[in-house]
Amino acid sequence: MNLIFLGPPGAGKGTIAAKAKDVFNIPHISTGDLFRANIKNETELGKQVKEILAAGNLVPDEITIKMVENRLAEDDAKNGYILDGFPRTIAQADALAKMSNVDYVVNFCIDRDVILKRLSGRRVCKSTGRTYHILYNPPKVEGIDDETGEPLIQRDDDKEEAILNRLEVYEKSTAPLIDYYREKDLLVDIDVSGAPDEIMENLKKILK
Ligand code: AMP
Repeated sequence: MNLIFLGPPGAGKGTIAAKAKDVFNIPHISTGDLFRANIKNETELGKQVKEILAAGNLVPDEITIKMVENRLAEDDAKNGYILDGFPRTIAQADALAKMSNVDYVVNFCIDRDVILKRLSGRRVCKSTGRTYHILYNPPKVEGIDDETGEPLIQRDDDKEEAILNRLEVYEKSTAPLIDYYREKDLLVDIDVSGAPDEIMENLKKILK
């Protein structure tokens, strides 16, 4: 099954994808995670995109499309995938249509004030990428990763100014994909205001 998770930053796409990949037995491909891994490993690509991510802007389409094309060519993506954070522009969606067919586009529906609360409370462990929330999913010890014991950090792009920019970028460049995929009859809406387990149960029903 080839799935796209579409929705604003902070809608919980990554959290649900981490569960759905085991339920549907397909890889979770997050373009944001791929870019962050490149930044961490100080690759050429990482150096090119570091500032763009910190500001919450979009990486140019050619760079992003090439990275996804390479990732989808890997063996584990042959029997399906969950694309989280891609496509984010109409040009990316057109490019994806040439690479692969898509079975469903899951549209994560949520209010803007809930997003702001979720993003500003998000904390991550830099080495493992594990995410927490200071209110909804706190670590056992404040500010410390449960497993590695490392201090948790706030992503640069989860700081207020970058969050507001990311939401604006979403509205302008990515939200038009809702109509794009609805017209192709691929869109399924899901309310993601509840708890992750509840959302996952709904998703299973919707995709049956
Ligand atoms: P995310 O983890 O999905 O919120 O992505 C973090 C950041 O990575 C975004 O704010 C963009 O700077 C960049 N990014 C991720 N996916 C894309 C994409 N499909 N197109 C352009 N930039 C992207």
